[in-house]
Amino acid sequence: MSALVSRTLMTILVLTALAAPVSADGPADLIIKNALVLTMDASGTVHENGVVVVRGDTLAAVGDAGLLGRFQAESVIDAGGDIVMPGMINLHNHIPMVAFRGLGENGVENRLFKFFFPLEKQMLSRDLIRIASRHGAMEMALAGVTLVADMYYHEDEVARGVAEVGIRGVLGETVIGFPVVDAAEPWGGLAYAERFIEEWKGHPLITPAVAPHAPYTVPPEWLLRSKALAERQGVPLLLHMAEFAHERRLIKDGVGEFPEGKSVVRYLEDIGFLCDALLAAHVIYVDEEDMAILKRRGVGVSHNPKANSRGATGMSPAWEMFHQDLDIGLGTDGPMGSNQMDIVNVLSYAASVARLRGQDGTRFTPYEVVSMATMGGARALDMEDEIGSLEVGKKADIVMVETHTPNMQPLYDPYAALVFSAYPENVRTTIVNGEVVVQDRILRKVDLAAHELEWQALTKRVAEFAKSLE
Ligand SMILES: [Zn+2]
Repeated sequence: MSALVSRTLMTILVLTALAAPVSADGPADLIIKNALVLTMDASGTVHENGVVVVRGDTLAAVGDAGLLGRFQAESVIDAGGDIVMPGMINLHNHIPMVAFRGLGENGVENRLFKFFFPLEKQMLSRDLIRIASRHGAMEMALAGVTLVADMYYHEDEVARGVAEVGIRGVLGETVIGFPVVDAAEPWGGLAYAERFIEEWKGHPLITPAVAPHAPYTVPPEWLLRSKALAERQGVPLLLHMAEFAHERRLIKDGVGEFPEGKSVVRYLEDIGFLCDALLAAHVIYVDEEDMAILKRRGVGVSHNPKANSRGATGMSPAWEMFHQDLDIGLGTDGPMGSNQMDIVNVLSYAASVARLRGQDGTRFTPYEVVSMATMGGARALDMEDEIGSLEVGKKADIVMVETHTPNMQPLYDPYAALVFSAYPENVRTTIVNGEVVVQDRILRKVDLAAHELEWQALTKRVAEFAKSLE
């Protein structure tokens, strides 16, 4: 009931916002001019020599140079012909694990038990999680990520780190059946999630969420309790889903409590878990019927082709899901499974993996891949009315990508340049919620010297402990 009421109120607010005042001419806060504007709106509108006008946290106007006569702002950025596009959305991460990035990389067998679990058991603390989250958010902001979805522990500390940098976070507190750093009791994550949601709901950048780990680690009772919490609070529900071949086998073969003969998706459907609020990560082991179910239920999908390649977990039918109009966007997964956390690197993987899987070099146009990284991510989070494209009335989440260094030239097709030629370093400026978070590759909101001190101390401690694991 309360979710319904708040959704209705939200609709009224959005409609009011769209009705007039935001597009009125006159004073604004920030104008970007002389830009190649890729709006990523429904018709793929592009403005050469384009202009974007920001008022407060909102896009007041998007169009051609004619707008310059209608709006004034103290802050004007001359894009010099560079690309201006919606912020990129990273739909799947475990940001704090950046503290352990690069450990156990040399073909270690059973890396999960030899490195991940001992490191987490010994090293995790509120401080580590906050500092590492800040670090990860810095890396993502510099690369043009304006929203990251995360699943970890102490998500309130993740929220602090992410908010400090100034990007958005949809942050899911993990629910799992063994004692972890922030919950001594099995399933204690659920109560933690509720407190976290109460504390952070309504924050302009942070959307708290609940994240049961996966169908093979969380039984129906706790999956459904997590869903009930998400419904009661009107927040997203995050889950790893159909990621592994062994997960599919376990469920299909009816091992333990699982009923025999069902796919992962059908099992989740039959227990009543699938819903619009769900964002599912990976979604590799699915067939046509599964995809139809996911579409009917409005489940969002995070496609993580770089992590899936690196870990050899499988090639997702992302191209098929995209063309069946599922809500699918891109993610990296955590920095121990996909060391870089930017989306620029994921763009080419998305195209390449789909082409390899289909043995078809025409799969995924560059435009389609960029749309997954922007509107696709927004739709997967049910945030498409607020973010994902540069349209009047939406939040001002904007990225500028420079086009003059050799790797970005020639610029015959900006989408092809973004997907197949760009490096994350080509991102020049990142604006989130109307605030300049990165300008000309400099982070604007973080005390870099103070962060560096904390980061050095933290990684020194991790390095010392890691020696004992080799
Ligand atoms: Zn993951």
